[in-house]
Amino acid sequence: MKKENPACQRPGAVTGEEARRLLMEGNGRFVEGRLAPKDLGGARREELASKGQKPFAVIVTCSDSRVPPEILFDQALGDLFVIRVAGNVVDQVALGSVEYAVEHLNTPLVVVMGHEKCGAVQAAVDGGEVPGSIGAIVSKIRPSVQKAAAAGAAGGELYEKTADENIKSAIEELKKSPVIRHFMEEGRLMLIGAKYHLSSGRVVFYH
Ligand SMILES: [Zn+2]
Repeated sequence: MKKENPACQRPGAVTGEEARRLLMEGNGRFVEGRLAPKDLGGARREELASKGQKPFAVIVTCSDSRVPPEILFDQALGDLFVIRVAGNVVDQVALGSVEYAVEHLNTPLVVVMGHEKCGAVQAAVDGGEVPGSIGAIVSKIRPSVQKAAAAGAAGGELYEKTADENIKSAIEELKKSPVIRHFMEEGRLMLIGAKYHLSSGRVVFYH
């Protein structure tokens, strides 16, 4: 019997828990270097174009080139709805993107994924002047620096604790949305944090 390829199975209507499991399994394949073959052919593109998208997870993460969600979760076309901005901060535009996926695409899982050694987090911890519009990102992360410092983090630890606080802060930001709260209260949406570890390739979920 032909073995089903997990990355080619269309999850269809999955729950948040099932969506998280698909991500964890995909990340496991990535870590082990056993990526599943993916259907990236014309027929699949045509199917997605004509039938529309049904991504099973929304990923809010950093623009860092070492953190591409489709690769590190071993997913294919049409699987993930991704919002990437340096420092994985949530502003109104990012929030609108998440709301769109939740309300119009019925995506059952939202993951806010930070990562180790994030440059945006480092800039916020280091303080000082930043050029151009980078300040808009850094100012979103500064409250997380204060929270991490107030919890006793110092030195090198302050960077990673700030990254963790910054993930929580983005989740709180998302929870302010009436659309997201409504879907969560109805049990149709799971909202969780995660952190990507650069060297091991492992994503650790905070839920
Ligand atoms: Zn980053």
